[in-house]
Amino acid sequence: MKYFSTRNKQKFFTFREAVLNGLAEDGGLFFPEFIPTFQKSFLKEIKNLSFREISFKTASLFIDNEIPQNKLKEIIESAIYFDAPIVNLSNELNVLELFHGPTLAFKDFGAQFMARIMEYFVHQTTRELIILVATSGDTGSAVANGFYGVEGIKVFILYPSGKVSTIQEKQLTTLDKNVTALEIEGTFDDCQRLVKQAFMDEDLKVKLNLSSANSINIARLIPQTFYYINSVKYFLDKKIIISVPSGNLGNITAGLIAKKMGMPIYKFIAATNSNSVFTEYLNTGIFSPRRSVLTYSNAMDVGNPSNLERIQHLYNFNVEQMRNEISSFSFSDEKTLEAINEIYHKFNYIIDPHGAVGYLALNKYFETSKINGIGIVAETAHYSKFIDVVEKAINQKIEIHEKLKEVLAKEKKSVKLDNNFDSLKNFLLTKN
Ligand SMILES: *Cc1c(COP(=O)(O)O)cnc(C)c1O
Repeated sequence: MKYFSTRNKQKFFTFREAVLNGLAEDGGLFFPEFIPTFQKSFLKEIKNLSFREISFKTASLFIDNEIPQNKLKEIIESAIYFDAPIVNLSNELNVLELFHGPTLAFKDFGAQFMARIMEYFVHQTTRELIILVATSGDTGSAVANGFYGVEGIKVFILYPSGKVSTIQEKQLTTLDKNVTALEIEGTFDDCQRLVKQAFMDEDLKVKLNLSSANSINIARLIPQTFYYINSVKYFLDKKIIISVPSGNLGNITAGLIAKKMGMPIYKFIAATNSNSVFTEYLNTGIFSPRRSVLTYSNAMDVGNPSNLERIQHLYNFNVEQMRNEISSFSFSDEKTLEAINEIYHKFNYIIDPHGAVGYLALNKYFETSKINGIGIVAETAHYSKFIDVVEKAINQKIEIHEKLKEVLAKEKKSVKLDNNFDSLKNFLLTKN
């Protein structure tokens, strides 16, 4: 399988190059030259396959023999070590729980897989790989956990001092080993600027083997197809509608790829909060990116979703065709609170603010389309990561997840750095 940039279909890259570069030189996103399809026999036997077996079969279609099959199997075994179960609340409401990984969010699937793929490619050389990431919270902790303990790779995470939640900070600063948290006296934008500057610095380029672990890396997208494919096996002869709480559109892009691979999924719903750029685009055909606004479902606060390029590529820029396969609805914070409360009282299930937006969009789809089908909401994070919002919605105290309790009890370790490039550069050069 070859890969190219969404902005240039003439130039081909290997999977290895796509993974290690992260973003194409022309600013586009890497994409497979074609979407592989499953054989009919796969759909017949899928019911009897485990999540890991399905993941392995899927991954091998995207990677071919760039990684030997037995090695890829090992990578899957160690990366996909937590499940993505479906909880059935009613016919129209099944919850696909994507939060059973180490940081309690779906980003763990992408981060765990990407880290092991990079580890494999790095071991073919003798040079240590240095990963730099800027984070405003959740992405950084998933990435840090993915690379934690991986040999031959060191990770430096830049985060804005005082501007992430206590839980997020603890998830970033309590890992140790090959992961170092750099606490920058500045904003998230400053952190991002410093990382970009590091990649452009000629001196660092020569002395260090730098790479990013960007959210748009193709090795993060591929494993996100696994859980869609796996979840469909329970409802093969039904009309399946999957609602995905969306921000940067990576998760739903993976779902759309799973559909193109031949999985019988009737429709995808892109659920958005007040940052409704994609909803507008789908409904009007006009894309107007803008500054994001803060909401309760803050991992979806994206004003210029980068994976739109991949979706446009999948549908040849044909918005009409997109509408056949995707619907999109947007909801306010007020509605989000109501939905959390409603699900709690109707089904005795606590959903997080992102999943709540997904639930609202799924309901709206059933209401407006009059379609009868199996509804699945992708629950992208565990509710206790957003304890303040959830307690406000259901008006009672809740317990936080064991994994969060553990991390809160650990001691924070970070290196404070001034908000300027020289202090970052000096630090990296003395430590590596
Ligand atoms: C990142 C994230 C999202 C948004 O996913 P995209 O792939 O950016 O669309 C939704 N919910 C949670 C909890 C997230 O962390």
